[in-house]
Amino acid sequence: MTSSSEGEILQVGQVIRERWKIKAKIGGGGFGEIYEATDVQNHHERVAIKVESSKATKQVLKMEVAVLRRLQGKKHACKFYGCGRNDKFNYLVMSLQGKNLADLRREAPKQCFNLSTAVRVGLQILNGIREIHSIGFLHRDIKPSNFAMGRTSQTMRNVYMLDFGLARQYLNAKGEIRSPRSAAGFRGTVRYAAVTAHKNKEMGRQDDLWSLFYMLTEFLQGQLPWRKIKDKDEVGKMKEEADLNALLDDCPNELHLFAAHLKTLGYADTPDYNYLESLLNKIVKDNDISWEEPYDWELG
Ligand code: ADP
Repeated sequence: MTSSSEGEILQVGQVIRERWKIKAKIGGGGFGEIYEATDVQNHHERVAIKVESSKATKQVLKMEVAVLRRLQGKKHACKFYGCGRNDKFNYLVMSLQGKNLADLRREAPKQCFNLSTAVRVGLQILNGIREIHSIGFLHRDIKPSNFAMGRTSQTMRNVYMLDFGLARQYLNAKGEIRSPRSAAGFRGTVRYAAVTAHKNKEMGRQDDLWSLFYMLTEFLQGQLPWRKIKDKDEVGKMKEEADLNALLDDCPNELHLFAAHLKTLGYADTPDYNYLESLLNKIVKDNDISWEEPYDWELG
């Protein structure tokens, strides 16, 4: 699609609030459109702008802004530069990152990451999930295209969490766990959703971590057994009945322990993030992985 085609919310060359000049469209997902722009008031610094039509039936940008603002200063959050609305669209301006992990995996040989890349990226994602949970929100759409590597020399080895359009507060104003709804509509992405989501139950913190578990499995194996199945109920059944020995064939035993911990958790339980982190760190140690070695995509 070209950036001047009809139906798009912004046009190349357009300037928002006399400040952000649109350069190109870089993503268009379920809810919004993502553009690269430059900040003409600040040395033409490159930024990302997420926009949502004011006519969109599901307005989610407000939630995204609320979550991103609270995440400011956290390691795995984009910088928040501004937001606003007019009669045509709502927008959110944030730091521009590099490629997302779905594209990086697809470009990798055999569509896999090596153990070193998978486990180091996995540790960063785990900490990103811990950060969003620490501000009282669930992400609810953890998947590779919602994580991007940084773009500058200072940020290119850091993972950034994107897309808070499906986030939900699990704590109330008093800091208590909200009571779960007896039924909740399916949210997220079929391939990575936790079994809880397939069952239309209220999701908890462990469900973001189940999605991380499926991501790690896919990074290492190059695929998940349900990759080609569209039917949500069938995929849910496959996940519930999955033989972890087959799913994790040739993977480090710590991933079994990772899943075993998640299995013990219900809606109100606090995951043991430190334990999960220690499991991934054990893989790093046992395999003599160094933090400095190149990621798969950095190898020439
Ligand atoms: P949607 O909610 O419409 O799916 P996302 O926020 O998930 O939109 O973004 C879709 C894609 O756009 C991402 O997978 C990523 O490739 C790209 N993208 C989103 N935000 C940024 C950003 N800040 N910097 C660089 N690319 C981004």
